[in-house]
Amino acid sequence: MTVSGGSMGGLFAGLALEDAGHEPTIYEQSTGDLHGRGAGIVAQENVRRFLERRDVVDPDAIATTSSERRFLARDGDVEMSRPDSMAFTSWDAVYRRLREAFPDDRYRTGREIVGVDPATATAEFAAGDEREADLVIAAEGGQSSTRRQLFPAVGPEFADYVAWRGVVDESDLAPAVADRFDDAFVFYQGQDLLVLAYFIPGDDGGTAPGERRLNWVWYDTLENRDRSAVFTDATDAEREITVPPGALREPVRTRQLERASDVLPPVFSRIVAETPTPFVQAIYDLTIPEMVVDRVCLLGDAAFVARTHTAAGTAKAAGDAVALERALERHDALDAALSTWNDSRTEYGDRLVARGRRMGDERLGLADSN
Ligand SMILES: Cc1cc2nc3c(=O)[nH]c(=O)nc-3n(C[C@H](O)[C@H](O)[C@H](O)COP(=O)(O)OP(=O)(O)OC[C@H]3O[C@@H](n4cnc5c(N)ncnc54)[C@H](O)[C@@H]3O)c2cc1C
Repeated sequence: MTVSGGSMGGLFAGLALEDAGHEPTIYEQSTGDLHGRGAGIVAQENVRRFLERRDVVDPDAIATTSSERRFLARDGDVEMSRPDSMAFTSWDAVYRRLREAFPDDRYRTGREIVGVDPATATAEFAAGDEREADLVIAAEGGQSSTRRQLFPAVGPEFADYVAWRGVVDESDLAPAVADRFDDAFVFYQGQDLLVLAYFIPGDDGGTAPGERRLNWVWYDTLENRDRSAVFTDATDAEREITVPPGALREPVRTRQLERASDVLPPVFSRIVAETPTPFVQAIYDLTIPEMVVDRVCLLGDAAFVARTHTAAGTAKAAGDAVALERALERHDALDAALSTWNDSRTEYGDRLVARGRRMGDERLGLADSN
C-alpha cells in the first residue's frame, strides 16, 4: 500500500495498516523533519486510545491536564468557571512518537506524489518514477494535490475569520500570569472574537509546572483588512492558508499586537505580546463528495477540514485510519471494505464540518450574516 503524506494522518494510517497485516510505505514530500513546527492540540480520547493500545506511548506521559473551564471578563477577572477535566498535548509530541513507532525503511522523505491513477493504484512521483500498489491512501492535508486531481471543483471555503496562534514558554511568563492559566482551559468571548489558552508540554516534552508551554488561539475577523496583505509573508510570498511561525511580516504582527491591547483582557494581550513567533491561519471549511475513488482513498484533512473549534482534526485523522483498518479486516473483498469505509467516514466528515460551521459562526457573531 502507498501512503502519500507523512504527518498525523499518514502515520495513523501507516501504523493501523501495519496492525492489519499490511506493509505500507509512507511518502512525505518534505525533506526536513516536521517536528518543531506544531503547537497545541486537545488530546482526544480516540487519539489517546490509539497511542496506548498500539504501544506508541503512554498518553499521560505526553499530556497536560486541566480541571476547570474558566471564562474571563474584559478586565481579566474570572466571570464564570465550572469543573471540566481536559487533557492537552502538543502536535510535536504526538508526531514524534508516531514517527518513532513506524519503520524507518518504509518512511521516505523528499518524495512528492504528483499524480495518481485510481484504476491501478499507481502513484507518480515528482522525481518521475511510479509505484503501483493495491491501494493509495492520500493523507496530504488540506492542500492535497490528489484531492485536486480527483475533485477539481472542490476547495477550501474561507470562513471570513482567522486564528492567530502561538506558544510561549511557561518559564518566560511572570508567575502571576502563568497562575491565571494553571489547571484551567481559559476563554474570553469578546465582540466578534474568541480567545482561549491552555498549557501543553514543553519543547522537550516536559509536563511539570515550569516546563510547559502556554498555547493560545485567538479567533478574530480581519475587520476591513485585506486578507492577501495579512497572508503575505516576510519574503513577500502570498500564502493561502497559514503564515507559519517566524514568517509574519513585522507590520502585520505589530498591528495585531496593538489590537490585542485594545480588545483582549490584559492577561491575554500580555501572552500574545510575549510570544516570540506568533502565526496565523485562515479558518475554512472543506468537504468532498466521496473519500474513495476506485483504489485511491482520501483521509484526514485531505478529505474534510472542520473548523478548529471542534478540536477534531487529529482525532478525525486517527478515526479515519482505525475505521479503514477495521473495514479491511471485516471484508475479504477490497471493494466492499472501501465502500463501507467511504459511506461511514464521508457521513462523519460532513457532520463534523457542519458542526464546526455552526460553532464558529455563533462564536464569531457571523451566524446571521450567512
Ligand atoms: C508541521 C505541521 C504542524 C502542525 N501543527 C498543528 C498544531 O499545532 N495544531 C493542530 O491542531 N494541527 C496542526 N497541524 C495540522 C494537523 O496535523 C491536521 O489538522 C490533522 O492532524 C490531520 O492531519 P493530516 O495528516 O490529514 O494533514 P497534515 O497534518 O496537513 O499533513 C499532510 C502531510 O502531507 C504532506 N503532503 C502533502 N502533499 C503531499 C504530496 N503530494 N506528496 C507527499 N506528501 C505530501 C505534507 O507535507 C504534510 O506532511 C500541523 C500539520 C503539520 C504538517
